[in-house]
Amino acid sequence: MAPVLWASTTFEIDTLADGQRMAHSSRATEFYSRHGNPTINAFEAAVAELEGADAARAFASGMGAITGVVLGLCGKGDHVVAQKQAYGGTTQLLAGVCPRFGIDVTFVDGTKPGAFAEAVIPGRTMLVLAETPANPLLDLVDLDELGAIKGPITAVDSTLATPLGVRPLEHGVQLVIHSATKAMAGHNDATLGVVAGERDLIDALWGFAVLQGACASPFDAMNGLRGLRTLGPRLRQQEQTAVAVGRALEAHRSVNWVRHPRLESHPQFALGQRQYSQFGGVLAFELAGGREAGARFVEAVRLCRPATSMGGPETLVTHPASTTHAGLTPDELAAAGITPGTVRMSCGLEHTDDVVADVLAALA
Ligand SMILES: *Cc1c(COP(=O)(O)O)cnc(C)c1O
Repeated sequence: MAPVLWASTTFEIDTLADGQRMAHSSRATEFYSRHGNPTINAFEAAVAELEGADAARAFASGMGAITGVVLGLCGKGDHVVAQKQAYGGTTQLLAGVCPRFGIDVTFVDGTKPGAFAEAVIPGRTMLVLAETPANPLLDLVDLDELGAIKGPITAVDSTLATPLGVRPLEHGVQLVIHSATKAMAGHNDATLGVVAGERDLIDALWGFAVLQGACASPFDAMNGLRGLRTLGPRLRQQEQTAVAVGRALEAHRSVNWVRHPRLESHPQFALGQRQYSQFGGVLAFELAGGREAGARFVEAVRLCRPATSMGGPETLVTHPASTTHAGLTPDELAAAGITPGTVRMSCGLEHTDDVVADVLAALA
């Protein structure tokens, strides 16, 4: 029942014709592991099935997958429309690396109706890239609107939702991207990414990916399969804790605001209810005491742990202004949606009451 680990990088071929066919086929499973590998292919098949996609390609990380999509599909002179609310690495790739390759990027507010479509330049825009729910404030994008854009290829980073929260391809979006490092593998022990979509698009991406070399490790793919088998119950537990923590925070005088799409206070609550069946355990909130309060909170938790990443068994808290984004000016922080008192939290699998008690004790 459990997935098998095929560690081999290479496979004995039966005939030269087989070898030649596999060297050029995105469906090769037993040729050379940068092209394909039975354990990696099993993970890809599982994700494709969960997303309702024809095919998927696994990568060494979420950033491997995003870089594969952007640089695999776009070239000199092409234009990309991207969401300004996104994972930091994605923004750095688009703003810092793409210009070096002659790829122009327009950033839009993904929460604004029609923003993506308005920024498309017919004949020049190759890719429209969204992220929802987005880092770090859980902003949402209307996937029906994104899927209705014709011409450019549409792609969405759906890491926070997972395929159990939403299936973007059913909304007409062409590619769905995940950092499986997070909830999908789910145990903070695998660095893994994946892209799923139509067969032709995945084949096109595959051709770039074997040269890019950011292929998944078979061991991580095995742990990805292990994670998928418990994804549902883990997400339900994490979401239950996130909502309980969120309500406790909303009632606390030291907290200015709380963001989780399941809380009625979320500015896009109705869209969240309509579009997603599950969100998982990531929430953000702002402490009234600003930078000092944020730093002290992260040091005061006992059960929760100060660490980056999300979707794993342990509840993790991060204070971006004093860690991941410490080098930014107040203006740059504000542009990224991160105020000095913002804390991001990824609820784990501990008992809900214990997490709430730890958060309240740290606030006190
Ligand atoms: C973590 C994350 C990434 C990057 O994934 P890695 O596996 O760390 O490379 C991309 N997008 C989102 C939304 C993420 O949370």
